[in-house]
Amino acid sequence: MTIQWFPGHMAKARRQVTEKLKLVDIIFELVDARLPLSSRNPMIDEIVNQKPRLVILNKEDMADPVMTKEWIRYFKEQGIEAVSVNSQAGNGLDKMVKAAEGILKEKFDRMRARGIKPRAMRAMIVGIPNVGKSTLINRIAKKNIAKTGNMPGVTKAQQWIKTAQHLELLDTPGILWPKFEDPETGYKLALTGAIKDAILNLQDVAIYGLRYLEERYPARLEERYGFAVLPEDMAYVFHQIGERRGSLASGGEVDYDKVTDIMIRDVRSGQFGRLTFDIPPEKA
Ligand code: GDP
Repeated sequence: MTIQWFPGHMAKARRQVTEKLKLVDIIFELVDARLPLSSRNPMIDEIVNQKPRLVILNKEDMADPVMTKEWIRYFKEQGIEAVSVNSQAGNGLDKMVKAAEGILKEKFDRMRARGIKPRAMRAMIVGIPNVGKSTLINRIAKKNIAKTGNMPGVTKAQQWIKTAQHLELLDTPGILWPKFEDPETGYKLALTGAIKDAILNLQDVAIYGLRYLEERYPARLEERYGFAVLPEDMAYVFHQIGERRGSLASGGEVDYDKVTDIMIRDVRSGQFGRLTFDIPPEKA
């Protein structure tokens, strides 16, 4: 998806989410489990405001499982419920529904106590591009799309996906903008394919990735490229990777763009195993 995020688009995206907040009991904030912090919208707390929320760490199959546990603990310490799922395979969806039920239990108990007829929980998914919103919606939808007209607060009929598990999900997600502030976040988003390749200098992205692997996953770096500690000379590093991966030109010269592509593709396709690029902040 290629969205250019100009201030006008951000304001519109925010307005669209805010408008639909009224229709739902709970927000499913989808993030990439490899980047539970960097793949969040920078204004999400303000936008969600008081609405109950469940953070969903998607693509758990690609993230470091030890770190995913730590992140779930971190969110809980912040008073935010979080679960991890793999939307592509459909793993963790029961856990997700149970967590939402837990968060909304009091509200639904109160409704029941007031004699209001029980109804399904209503949820909407929000998140930055490429975290897997459509994949999750399609997973939940299967063949369950149902149209309901005249929801209060909107003139256009909303499509709701009804599931067997007392959940109704808005069929269109809220798409919010990613963080742009610091280069490190940009590198992480680029490495995992969350932002368009044309935005950043890819060689810088690859070098950031190499240094991160050196710091956090040296054994995997060694296994794939032959060094656990990166030599000072980056030209040499690129040469070695090119040689190892059989992509040097016939004269033995390095094609830096090609090696850059190889490195980034290796990260994105899981050749280094399951990686997490955000570390939970130290407990306060
Ligand atoms: P959206 O822009 O947030 O709607 O993201 P998409 O649903 O289009 O997903 C972006 C990419 O991530 C697609 O290539 C999906 O196949 C992939 N994807 C989504 N969920 C998962 C997941 O749980 N695991 C893996 N490995 N890939 C996923």
